[in-house]
Amino acid sequence: MDARENVTGVERKVWDLIRELSSELKNVAENPVLEAILIAAKVLGVRKEDVVTKDIIVSEKEKSIIKELVEKRANGYPLHYILGEKEFMGLSFFVEEGVFIPRPETEELVEMALDLIKRYGLRVVADVGTGSGAIGVSIAKFSGAIVFATDISEKAVEVSLKNAKRHGVLDRFVVKRGRFLEPFEKDYEKIEMILSNPPYVKMSARLPQDVLFEPSEALFAGEDGLDFYREFFRRYSTEGKIVLMEIGEDQVEELKKIVPGAAFLKDTSGRYRFLHINRRSS
Ligand code: SAM
Ligand code: GLN
Repeated sequence: MDARENVTGVERKVWDLIRELSSELKNVAENPVLEAILIAAKVLGVRKEDVVTKDIIVSEKEKSIIKELVEKRANGYPLHYILGEKEFMGLSFFVEEGVFIPRPETEELVEMALDLIKRYGLRVVADVGTGSGAIGVSIAKFSGAIVFATDISEKAVEVSLKNAKRHGVLDRFVVKRGRFLEPFEKDYEKIEMILSNPPYVKMSARLPQDVLFEPSEALFAGEDGLDFYREFFRRYSTEGKIVLMEIGEDQVEELKKIVPGAAFLKDTSGRYRFLHINRRSS
């Protein structure tokens, strides 16, 4: 117990609290101190830098909220659902339970897509399974393209729209609820590029505890994790289009059979993580 708490009995400096609480996170977090700081900053409504540098006094009420959230996190609940946001492509995306938390590897897909959009002067791009809108909203933000986005989840439609608004691209990001590109069937000819980070996890896979709090329809795709690709490429012709999709690192051999003619691209750590088709003539 520190001297200040002895005096007032109700106040506590934030740094003491972080020291105490971060130890609870050591089994779930790669950086327990940073996570405790981020949670405290969220509750106190200050920047994380202020938590580190200023002697902020925490009230009894704030302390109990911070403790409760740290305990939730210690039970595996994802940090970004607690914070309500996740950074992707340098943008802050609003996220909440029921929507997939964007991953850093998907930023590589967006970077590659932006290069191709520029190189070919593409105007119409689709994002299948948009989730928080991470791919589609970033594409609309960093290129002039119009994005047609879909998702089977109503929550994803709602959250991606909120993110499109947050990043000022509501005029170029059109999202509809539905499977694959069903909601944009009549616009299919106009779509020049198809992007997706679909579900690709095997039904039997053992996932880290925090991933299990994310929606299962965002992750799992049948026994071998390939159901999405199988159905997508059975339904849709890629003629004249460019396709870039994220894949699981052990799926290349199976995907070569499902999508003959597709190329596979490595991520920056040297793993094959993307399926690529380029059937544009110029
Ligand atoms: N694109 C986001 C990202 O990269 O952060 C979300 C990716 S998450 C792995 C996959 C998303 O696809 C989920 O939001 C899920 O609801 C959606 N989804 C799954 N099957 C789908 C289908 N057949 N058609 C459209 N969306 C689908
Ligand atoms: N890579 C994701 C994970 O962390 C799986 C995402 C997906 O199925 N698209 O579990």
